[in-house]
Amino acid sequence: MPDTLQQQPSLLWLRRDLRLDDHPGWAAALAGGGPVVPVFIRDPLFDEMTGAAARWRMGEAIAALDRQLRARGSRLILRQGDALGVLRDLIAETGAGAVIWSRAYDARQIARDTQIRASLTGQGVNAASVNAHLLFEPWTVATRAGGPFRVYSPFWRGVREREVAPPLPPPGDLAPPAVWPRSDDLGDWALGRAMNRGGAIVMRHAGIGEAAARSRLSAFLGGPIERYRGDRDFPARAATSGLSENLAYGEISPRVIWHAGRDAMISAEKPGQAEHFLKELVWREFAYHLLYHFPQIETHNWRSDWDSFPWREDNGDARLWRQGRTGVALVDAAMREMYVTGRMHNRLRMLAASFLTKHLMTHWRVGQGWFAECLTDWDVAANAMGWQWVAGSGPDAAPYFRVFNPDLQAEKFDADGAYRARWLAEGRGDPHPDALSYFDAVPRAWALDAAGPAPEPMISLAQGRARALEAYSARVAAE
Ligand code: FAD
Repeated sequence: MPDTLQQQPSLLWLRRDLRLDDHPGWAAALAGGGPVVPVFIRDPLFDEMTGAAARWRMGEAIAALDRQLRARGSRLILRQGDALGVLRDLIAETGAGAVIWSRAYDARQIARDTQIRASLTGQGVNAASVNAHLLFEPWTVATRAGGPFRVYSPFWRGVREREVAPPLPPPGDLAPPAVWPRSDDLGDWALGRAMNRGGAIVMRHAGIGEAAARSRLSAFLGGPIERYRGDRDFPARAATSGLSENLAYGEISPRVIWHAGRDAMISAEKPGQAEHFLKELVWREFAYHLLYHFPQIETHNWRSDWDSFPWREDNGDARLWRQGRTGVALVDAAMREMYVTGRMHNRLRMLAASFLTKHLMTHWRVGQGWFAECLTDWDVAANAMGWQWVAGSGPDAAPYFRVFNPDLQAEKFDADGAYRARWLAEGRGDPHPDALSYFDAVPRAWALDAAGPAPEPMISLAQGRARALEAYSARVAAE
């Protein structure tokens, strides 16, 4: 390669991969020999796909990475607009000869990226994508018959012994370009605007940036992993890794987590605990496998025979569900946990989703949308798969007649009521500060009062269950 070419900068287009460690994009961009200009583009698709909490959280992730880069003499360039137009402008301004990004797996981003790659390649720019998001590219895992997996267990068996390349070190020298291109001011983007009063409250529960992600992983490996399988279903126990928030912005790579889990498995007295953690990480892979091979999972019933099911669209009951006022204590506690922390315990995601889609007969898309709005760990693949799994309309889904009973779930997984006491205020003598913070976070228009009476159950659990099963039987009979 001639010297002049070697000196050309490369653009590293960062998206949900905001890190330095174990990121093949840095290696690919630096391989050009010239300086790397990291860029984040707020394009229309970003706004379309990103709910209020995730948008706020993305702003924090961007700020954290920019601080890291600046400490190393680099910086993150921010631009807003159509992604291809922005990249073309930056190529013209910097003389970049290459654009590198890490692959996305949902239909809308794939379509955008494919078009961008064709355009840039057509103008003589080296446009290349890398895998910084997954352990196993969806097209590299196949059934014996050569098709995609539809069921998790064989998928797990198909990948559990696979070789996963060791993590890459962070990039070495980050030489700056001759002139840094102009950058927008992150503050002007006001990414937290839609969070209303909630941003400062959610911030108390967030763990932002690469260093926070690493500490989370170390804390988890230092104790909870040894009891993971037994404790992970109890929402009042700090038993899971909390890493979904960091994975959602790419602040840690799945490879780093995988290898840490494998090492723990090899050295542990009870390897089954660590193995169970790896299995959960592979649920994330499975979600991307499904999303890539069956893109409609994001928007349509995966099983089309569900199209005739009489789910209700958004309705007043769903509004009470969103506001944590169903009168079903464990469901309300979970909905409030999500509003205040941007997270919800996995068992309660299943319970809250079951209650909405079954007891309240409301379409899973309504819940999927609300989770997308509130979760700081929102993930396009895991959220879609989770909702369709619970609703019964998805691949490998829970059977429809499995209706979670909130009372039994509470008896089993929150027997001493500690979780509910943390998140519910009404009718309690000395409410927990987290329960009270919910009332500071929600919009005033909801007119909620922590000192008011506890909400009455909006529906009898037995009636709700019976109604759902009746509709289910009618659907099956009509087939
Ligand atoms: P850990 O128990 O420590 O597990 C480690 C990692 O494994 C997680 O960080 C996550 O990446 C992955 N994982 C664990 N369980 C699952 C699962 N069931 N599906 C896919 N990946 C999993 N997860 C998201 O990351 N974003 C979402 O938007 C999301 N929406 C969901 C919606 C519903 C209705 C349901 C039922 C589940 C959803 N999940 C989602 C999956 C799961 O609830 C979270 O990944 C988990 O609670 C994250 O907590 P953790 O990081 O402490 O998990």
